[in-house]
Amino acid sequence: LAKADGRATWRFFEPEMDVRLQVRRALELDLRDALGNGEFEVHYQPVFDLQENRIGGFEALLRWNHPTRGQVSPAEFISLAEEIGLIVPLGEWVLRTACAEAATWPKYIKLAVNVSVAQFKNAHLFEIVTSSVRASGLSPRRLELEITESLLLANNTATLAKLHELRDFGVRIAMDDFGTGYSSLNYLRSFPFDKIKIDQSFVSGMTNRDGSRAIVKAMTAMASSLGIRATAEGVETQEQLAWLRAAGCDEAQGFLFSRALPAAQLPGLIHQWNDQKRAAV
Ligand code: C2E
Ligand code: MG
Ligand code: MG
Ligand code: MG
Repeated sequence: LAKADGRATWRFFEPEMDVRLQVRRALELDLRDALGNGEFEVHYQPVFDLQENRIGGFEALLRWNHPTRGQVSPAEFISLAEEIGLIVPLGEWVLRTACAEAATWPKYIKLAVNVSVAQFKNAHLFEIVTSSVRASGLSPRRLELEITESLLLANNTATLAKLHELRDFGVRIAMDDFGTGYSSLNYLRSFPFDKIKIDQSFVSGMTNRDGSRAIVKAMTAMASSLGIRATAEGVETQEQLAWLRAAGCDEAQGFLFSRALPAAQLPGLIHQWNDQKRAAV
């Protein structure tokens, strides 16, 4: 196909495409070995409770310490891990690691774990969740699973049944990146979520005149009238925080408080925010 015959104006393999493919293949090969090589690490970003004025939970965020590339972002490898089927064992590892870690935190502090679509569709998800919780000794009420709207696109009964099964076990369900999906409101009607996480694009827009402020206010009011919590993602400035407080948002998460940190740094962070700084934010 790539042969240049007088008339051909396109080629199947462009040189740049070839390079990109090679980079991707190399990353894929490395990814297949990374779990066995112990290259993954879970970091934890605090979720600040705006009513209690303290850290109320942490979100587990996966980090890949690549031997030569350094830290590779989840944005670069999660979808690849989904495609090659690695997300199922990888997601299980995250869940087990994070539950064991969270069991050492003060009891009022919760843990949130991201669950990808492929992981959710896996037949063993429920067993993986229950066995991670039981092995760690963590109360299921302290675990929250974050799912995205793409999971609910099909809106099929099997997915809803699975969500209910998990919720009956005691874990909470949060809808991540709320507002970025195709039909967010419809999902709130078909499944009783415990929380929406307002996508950071709305939060960053709050200081512009693009309507984001009104949207965040409406989302928060809606969550409140449905009896579910609203968390704002990607909070970077005091000004955004002030707007979120005024809108009645329950929780805030973002670089203003802290980036995701290795487990060893959490006791210090909890002490700093929850024992020393309580009046400061
Ligand atoms: P997410 O679940 O929406 O996580 C929030 C992302 O926003 C994290 O990026 C976090 O570091 C980043 N973030 C937090 N605060 C701020 C802020 O103030 N400003 C900005 N600009 N960004 C902020 P991260 O860690 O790179 O993760 C990206 C995405 O990768 C996550 O989005 C999640 O969808 C996925 N991911 C991460 N860890 C896992 C995992 O263990 N399993 C699965 N399935 N997906 C994961
Ligand atoms: Mg998340
Ligand atoms: Mg999110
Ligand atoms: Mg996001």
